[in-house]
Amino acid sequence: MNLPVIDSGISSPASNSGDERRHLLDLSQEDLKNWLVEHGQPGFRAKQIIHWVYQRRISDFREMSDLPKALRSQLDESFRVFVTSQTAAVQSSDGTDKLLIGLPDGGEVECVLLRDGSRRSICVSSQVGCAMGCVFCASGLDGVDRNLTTGEILEQMLLLQARLEDSERLSHIVMMGMGEPLANLDRVLGALNIARSADGLGISPRRITISTVGLPPAIDRLASNGTPYNLAVSLHAPNDQLRSKLVPVNQKIGIDKVLDAADRYFDSSGRRLTFEYVLLGGVNDSPDHGRQLAKLLKHRTVLLNVIPYNPVEGLPYVTPTKASIAEFRQVLESGGVNVKFRQRKGDEIDAACGQLRRNRGNSNDQEPSTQN
Ligand code: SAH
Repeated sequence: MNLPVIDSGISSPASNSGDERRHLLDLSQEDLKNWLVEHGQPGFRAKQIIHWVYQRRISDFREMSDLPKALRSQLDESFRVFVTSQTAAVQSSDGTDKLLIGLPDGGEVECVLLRDGSRRSICVSSQVGCAMGCVFCASGLDGVDRNLTTGEILEQMLLLQARLEDSERLSHIVMMGMGEPLANLDRVLGALNIARSADGLGISPRRITISTVGLPPAIDRLASNGTPYNLAVSLHAPNDQLRSKLVPVNQKIGIDKVLDAADRYFDSSGRRLTFEYVLLGGVNDSPDHGRQLAKLLKHRTVLLNVIPYNPVEGLPYVTPTKASIAEFRQVLESGGVNVKFRQRKGDEIDAACGQLRRNRGNSNDQEPSTQN
């Protein structure tokens, strides 16, 4: 596929080899406070530093003018703000930007900025690859390599934020990129703590969504964390027989347990649940599937997001026809389900998670240029 590469190898000043300094973004505000106190500084400087990085978008300690000069050099000796490099950026005509991010160990992840009216949403990865094995998804085709660190998750947010014009404001975060966020929950929560902090990105938890394949113990852990993030559960099938084929982890869990955990999350967070349903032509899009789905969801306070499949090269799945999408919609609406049919955004830039990484891996004409 021909990708409209708008820039490449820019932005984050990553120089990784031999640099022993810690990744500043891996530290919570508390960790940073402790470091400062250990170095004879007042703890409130943590707030100042976080404000510089996230609000003022400054990554060079020398520019942090309200810090004592000696501290600025000490910080520079001890920390790096960015450890990744942006290996590609592509933009589609509907205002969607997608970045391919190179990690210090050579791995790559994707993240996306979506523009919709005044809404500026970013879609962020939580792992390199994915272990869940959903058969239609590009991210997990080669399994999972590793969890991203808190700092690597936050870097994606900062790099996407940096693409906004002065007149634009980051408004929403969705943990819907590569990987299963609930399989890397501690680091994801660490990153979201900074994302929602007033000195960090200042995004309300009501505007942050964590998307999961549906791992009940981790959903319970997320509920007990107490911050009311939105939860989206990727359902994709209305019965266990089909779901276990499409979403293999379902074999060990089953839809009932996923729905029970989602209900508990709703009870404790008070946040309306979202269910995601990728519509695969001839696989899960029949009127009967629609009726079964309506039966599962109509007594729950949920939004069902139906997403037409974004085709992945080499996989046998197709986007349903317009007529079958319309019929599926009619069945759900008359079945009493609150349903939204999402537009596919960013098709031309492989916006479905994992596709850009794969396609770049297959093409020789667009070698990522990394910075050293
Ligand atoms: N692991 C998490 C989050 C990452 S996937 C989860 O399963 O929710 C984010 C969403 O994108 C999921 O609903 C996933 O099923 C969907 N998705 C993956 N590949 C897709 C494709 N090719 N077309 C449309 N949606 C896709």
